Amino acid sequence: MKKYFRQFTAFTFCFILYTSAVFAQTAPPQEKNKREAQLVELNTLDKTIKLDIRYATDNNFVGKTVYSEARAFLQKPAAEALLRVHKQLKKRGLGLVIFDGYRPWSVTKIFWEVTPEDKRKYVANPAKGSKHNRGCAVDLSIYDLKTGEPVPMPSGFDEFTERASPVYKGGTEQERANRDLLRKLMEKEGFIVNVNEWWHFDYKDWEKYAIYDVSFSDAAKGEEVKAIN
Ligand SMILES: [Zn+2]
Repeated sequence: MKKYFRQFTAFTFCFILYTSAVFAQTAPPQEKNKREAQLVELNTLDKTIKLDIRYATDNNFVGKTVYSEARAFLQKPAAEALLRVHKQLKKRGLGLVIFDGYRPWSVTKIFWEVTPEDKRKYVANPAKGSKHNRGCAVDLSIYDLKTGEPVPMPSGFDEFTERASPVYKGGTEQERANRDLLRKLMEKEGFIVNVNEWWHFDYKDWEKYAIYDVSFSDAAKGEEVKAIN
């Protein structure tokens, strides 16, 4: 009996060591003195900001639904800057279509785990966390207000190819012009385009916010949003 107990204890100990090692590898580092989170739901600012939340469907690179609700949030200053971009587009009969905004940290972890190593430059390492986890990154495109259809772009959203680069020279002139218009308007409002993805923009103050893992419904309640660590 004693022998079994010893084996059991040894096994438990190894298991704890293993799980803590795994967690240590993937948990983001502790951060201090961050701004208080104030996540704003984007389509409440203007009803014509369209949502196409792919992660709430199986039409995404994971091939599975990872969000239980099709909602999009950003930290207040970023959300307000985005609204100004949308207003500029409206003057041209266009509007913003949002694929993703604030993303809970646990979802970033899922993305990392399902992505093959050679494609990992397209996803954030959960050990560092993503700017989406801070509520300061947005994935988006442009749509035509009259038809409701997205305008043509050089690549699809989450297409992990060279066509996704914001400086890709291929595609049609119209596709490149649409992509460059989005970038120009976003940059004017303090967003920075990702070097590998024309649809992904980081808000300039992302470092001032912590990493969060709260659900969309909790974020929507407007109560205190607690950082992951
Ligand atoms: Zn993104």
